[in-house]
Amino acid sequence: MIPKGTRLYSILHHKCPRCHEGSLYCTGPYQKGFTRMHEKCSQCGLQYAQEPSFYSGAMYVSYALQVALFTTVYVALRVLFNPAAEVYMITIIGAAFVLFPVTFRLSRAIYLNFFFSYDADAKNIKP
Ligand SMILES: [Zn+2]
Repeated sequence: MIPKGTRLYSILHHKCPRCHEGSLYCTGPYQKGFTRMHEKCSQCGLQYAQEPSFYSGAMYVSYALQVALFTTVYVALRVLFNPAAEVYMITIIGAAFVLFPVTFRLSRAIYLNFFFSYDADAKNIKP
């Protein structure tokens, strides 16, 4: 159980980084429109996109997540099965493809948490 008020809570639950109440995304990760975000928090009114192309920087976070995923899959395959080289390629590309919605959304949530911190009184701010 991750306590509310930590950045990890906001990132893993896709909640507003300031109040941890409002949802970042409009749909689930494997539904149509999984990239769509709310413009602002429904609880505290925080503007999720601070400027045009705000989430371009999230590409760097996404890159780091993908490298971590590739490394994890590679090590798991190596330790458990030690398969042929083609199996590594297919499995790693498959994992990246299947988990793309998750890494995409996580990277934006992490990036947003770079700029905002939890504020317990944010719920009192009128949107
Ligand atoms: Zn909020």
